Amino acid sequence: MKLILEIDGSNPYGKGIISRMRGKILFRLCLGILVPLALLSCTQKDSNSNTAKGDKPRVVATSTIIADLAQEVAEDEIRLSAILKPGTDPHVYEPVPADSRVLEEADLILYNGYNLEPGLIKLMNASGGKAQKLAVGEAVKSLQLDKGKGEVVPDPHVWGSAENAIAMTNAIRDALIELSPEDRGKFTQKASQLNNELKQLHTWINQQIQTIPADKRKLVTTHDAFQYYGRAYGIAIAGTLIGISTEEQPSAQTVQRLVESVKKIGVSAIFAETTINPALIKTVAQEAGVKLAPNQLYSDSIGAKGSQGDSYIKMMEANTRTIVEALGGKYTPLQLKK
Ligand SMILES: [Zn+2]
Repeated sequence: MKLILEIDGSNPYGKGIISRMRGKILFRLCLGILVPLALLSCTQKDSNSNTAKGDKPRVVATSTIIADLAQEVAEDEIRLSAILKPGTDPHVYEPVPADSRVLEEADLILYNGYNLEPGLIKLMNASGGKAQKLAVGEAVKSLQLDKGKGEVVPDPHVWGSAENAIAMTNAIRDALIELSPEDRGKFTQKASQLNNELKQLHTWINQQIQTIPADKRKLVTTHDAFQYYGRAYGIAIAGTLIGISTEEQPSAQTVQRLVESVKKIGVSAIFAETTINPALIKTVAQEAGVKLAPNQLYSDSIGAKGSQGDSYIKMMEANTRTIVEALGGKYTPLQLKK
């Protein structure tokens, strides 16, 4: 019934006869579709109250990566919403009023932590609500990065290693079991299935990176999001335009320094990222006389639905393919055994 009212409310009633007729037709169409649906959902509710949609726990994920892992483990046992949309940069995201409503109504909030999403973490801590909170990324021991002047901060981009994604999946599984103990069996089974795929992904990325000639295994990206990837798979992070947070704006001097260092290290290509404006890294590539890889890397977000990187596993596969092909390796598609 709520949906009918919402749709009705959006109709332009009172704006002439044609609008009124359209409104009526739409209303009838809605009734025609929704009444059987409503009956169906009542029947389901009567036969098994646990599976009625209204009873499912509400889980909110901040990042698209965490939402994807949680979806794989929970399937339809929870009502999952992700605050960040694909392609959004979590470092500089400024929450909107709807976000605090979603956080307040949640039973469980899964966020990355290590200050990946400072705006949302602040909002989450300020919001009332009853939710359990889990910093999923903090299930992994962080790398400590020196920001200079004695300031050391944890690097939040832990998902860069598929082995770390296994630890994140296990943390999500345990929080979901605590939230809905009757689904323990399903969550355990789905998590172990996902972890099995993540192990295969980990091995595959290692093999792929090894096809790049040893002296070409160097990564230059827009922001410093690939330290975990680099360490896990044996490719050096040879330079970045900006640090681990995209909040800082690179100066003309920083751009020039990167140009010089790209020339010196002799890489054949450097990389733009899907969550950051590529203009400056493009300039670096032009001035250093190297290629900008034809595909951008998915750094802090999975891709939009239907894109090459629209799940965590697919994003890691797409990134690896982009890197391997741009640096002279030989890419072989990932084939997961279920
Ligand atoms: Zn980042």
